Amino acid sequence: MNFEPVIGLEIHAQLKTKTKIFCNCSTEFGAPPNTHTCPVCLGMPGVLPVLNKKVVDYSLRMAVATRCEINRESRFARKNYFYPDLPKGYQISQYELPLARNGWVMVETSGEKKRIGINRIHMEEDAGKLIHAPDRPVSRVDFNRTGVPLIEIVSEPDIRSPEQAGAYLRQLRSIVRYLGICDGNLEEGSFRCDANVSIRPAGSETLGTRTELKNLNSFKHVEKALLYEIGRQKEIILDGGKVVQETRLWDPGNNRSTAMRGKEEAHDYRYFPDPDLLPLVVDEGWIAHVKQDLPELPDDKKERFVKAYGLPAYDAQLLTADRELADYFEACLKVFDNAKQVSNWIMGPLLGLLNAQGKSISESPVSAVYLARLLSLVDKGVISGKIAKTVFDEMAQSGNTPETIVEEKGLGQVTDTAAIEDIVQKVLDSNPNEVQAYRGGKTKLLGYFVGRVMKETRGQANPQLVNEILKEKLET
Ligand code: ADP
Ligand code: MG
Ligand code: ZN
Repeated sequence: MNFEPVIGLEIHAQLKTKTKIFCNCSTEFGAPPNTHTCPVCLGMPGVLPVLNKKVVDYSLRMAVATRCEINRESRFARKNYFYPDLPKGYQISQYELPLARNGWVMVETSGEKKRIGINRIHMEEDAGKLIHAPDRPVSRVDFNRTGVPLIEIVSEPDIRSPEQAGAYLRQLRSIVRYLGICDGNLEEGSFRCDANVSIRPAGSETLGTRTELKNLNSFKHVEKALLYEIGRQKEIILDGGKVVQETRLWDPGNNRSTAMRGKEEAHDYRYFPDPDLLPLVVDEGWIAHVKQDLPELPDDKKERFVKAYGLPAYDAQLLTADRELADYFEACLKVFDNAKQVSNWIMGPLLGLLNAQGKSISESPVSAVYLARLLSLVDKGVISGKIAKTVFDEMAQSGNTPETIVEEKGLGQVTDTAAIEDIVQKVLDSNPNEVQAYRGGKTKLLGYFVGRVMKETRGQANPQLVNEILKEKLET
């Protein structure tokens, strides 16, 4: 039997506001435990939450960017459960009336485009963090994260493969980063994903029983965990069994998931509207302002890069996945306008360098202007393409300008005809057999001679001149 996987993702994105969602404690990461707390986020009795306007503003940006319908009136609800990291005994979230509904994003995998629906986007508060002592049966709790604002983005079950799930997640991460509302770090947990997956016979319209996967803190884990889970469910069904609806924990060390708990139902949480908070009203003016303020988004930028600069879709996709990378590319073009060459150098040597040094584009040791000036030097024939890589590496190390490096290291291309003639003559003199063979008709040997001359000049001779002079000397 042929099975089709059905996947839906729930993403929690931590918003980059300065203060928490219902109090003015700092959201700064890494402070000593329990120093960013107050009676509100510690859940003391008799205190009242006050909604942070910036949180709504950031959430609206995401809702607009993903073409959601925005509820003019939404509500906060209490989601009740007991856990030591939740001092109030309930989490303030949105339930029946979320901020936004029915959006979508486009994702592309191996050339295939798919529209993935977004069921809802709502605001909620984060819980604290438990720290389990490694050596004693003791756990401690840090409430600094309690009340840090999150948006939850729930997809429709529109995703059909682990690869597509990865692409969707990357797309959303790219969008939140473009919007500047979340730093999108899966490893550090500021962008978290739970994956729901079921399988059904290919062609069937009804949904199968799903499981929910947790602890997916890298793109690789998301894809691997889904692949594993799809395989596990297939086996169960082929054995005549039934998939149990449950929450499973991905264990990256052992490449498998284990059952964590039975899946709770919404009614278990005893949701009810939070009487401490007024309904949230978002008026037209606010939405219009957010729309106006929206930056160019990755898809639009990608399309523009293809149209305006004639870049292949592949290059445009890669360059626009990160807003800063796209800015870097366009900063290069202001100085040197061959888009494809700039793109090649960014995708090749530059990203290679950043990768090796574990740096982001904003920390690049080679500035956009210097890279562009380097490419101009090649374009003007001052240095060869090969030498350009040497200059690039040197720029990365010393931070010097490309012109200074070429000057100081004497890397300029040799265009002095007399000098090249001398070297050509020397090469021909020391390879009499090859010269004879060439003159006897083995003209393919030209490349061999060019190679020798380039080696003699450490790659600095102008290759065109070398070719011309060689031909002249060999054919007369
Ligand atoms: P809950 O929040 O109670 O887990 P939701 O209805 O909010 O349930 O769905 C959570 C996620 O699970 C959504 O992204 C949804 O698309 C996905 N989902 C729901 N049913 C299925 C299913 N049968 N197979 C795969 N994914 C599903
Ligand atoms: Mg949910
Ligand atoms: Zn507080």
